[in-house]
Amino acid sequence: MTDLSWVNEEIETLKNDGRYIPIRILESPQGSHVKIEGKEVLNMCSNNYLGLANNPEVKKAVIDAIGQYGMGAGAVRSIAGTMEIHNKLEEKVASFKHMESSLVYQGGLLANLGTIPVLVGKEDVIFSEELNHASIIDGMRLSSAKKYVYNHMSVEDLERKMKEHRKEGKRSLVVTDGVFSMDGDIAPVKEIQEVKDRYDTMFYVDDAHGEGVLGKNGRGIVDHFGLQGKVEVEMGTFSKALGSMGGFVAGSEKLIDLLKQRARPFLFSSALNPGDAAGVLKSIEIMERDDSLVKKLWDNANYLQKGFRDLGFKLTSTKTPITPVVIGDEKKTLELSSYLYRNEGVFASPIVFPTVAKGLARIRVMPSAIHSKEDLKKTLEAFEKGAKALKIH
Ligand SMILES: *Cc1c(COP(=O)(O)O)cnc(C)c1O
Repeated sequence: MTDLSWVNEEIETLKNDGRYIPIRILESPQGSHVKIEGKEVLNMCSNNYLGLANNPEVKKAVIDAIGQYGMGAGAVRSIAGTMEIHNKLEEKVASFKHMESSLVYQGGLLANLGTIPVLVGKEDVIFSEELNHASIIDGMRLSSAKKYVYNHMSVEDLERKMKEHRKEGKRSLVVTDGVFSMDGDIAPVKEIQEVKDRYDTMFYVDDAHGEGVLGKNGRGIVDHFGLQGKVEVEMGTFSKALGSMGGFVAGSEKLIDLLKQRARPFLFSSALNPGDAAGVLKSIEIMERDDSLVKKLWDNANYLQKGFRDLGFKLTSTKTPITPVVIGDEKKTLELSSYLYRNEGVFASPIVFPTVAKGLARIRVMPSAIHSKEDLKKTLEAFEKGAKALKIH
């Protein structure tokens, strides 16, 4: 056996730096409350925005689909793994997004890894927003395209960089998160669209935190800005508001056709389970039917954010239900999160350097449509008590 002591050294380094992530184990379904270590706690840190992960109608659709199609698809999509449920879901996603066509992947991360290298290659350029998600960054690496990073939220910096570097590539792509998960702010998608059109560039928006949150009935960021037909690729996930797993890209029919020939997760990794596909289909149907869950989510978010501000807590300039409570000091933030969990039964995750800049450590509170006003009041009271006990302000 080769010496693996380096593994232990790396783990120790992570622990000494305070960057070792403890993994909490849920003993219950995902919900407004979850059971951890035998104890029920109020869950304020999941991405289950609409509560669809444990929705009875969705669960029934999954169970029925397993009865009809079995558990697994049995092959990659391009050989024998494409089932009619995949096609139905792709049609539904495209119509929900008002796009011509869509392609379903096994995850949002895989959608980014699979799609970006088809759009651009080593003779091309990418303009990438500074705070883009790790899966976009990895997708860009896989593409080998030349990359220029523009400043967070700055259309001016984007234009400056496009002016200077667009000509270095044959094809060109600008890529951004729609909603930034650590701050809750929204990319200036409309302005980016106007600028990029002057530089013969494709536009790719990752809508992972916009689905179920922004736009009519939670259609997402392109709908929110009314940019249907003006954004070449809208990418998204089924793992957040839609409550399941999987991902997709939506775009023109021709582009989706090409992705089916080239995207490596489509060609070399087995298809999404039919049950998951059916569950997501049901989630979208529920969202189309009425927008009460999206309304409730925003109601709860507004109530919670006003509550924090009234208590003197500092939030980021969030424009979405993502509610980052900025504490600043890393150690205090970890202490507060632990206090909330141990003393108050409120589960809310600390986010510290290097995920966010030094001195901007925060607790990211995630309200959802399935939280009651009592849950939100309890959260606010718990933060108030914790801040007093730990002399935070
Ligand atoms: C969560 C997330 C992903 C990954 O989605 P999964 O379906 O969980 O793999 C991609 N991009 C962004 C911006 C995300 O927040």
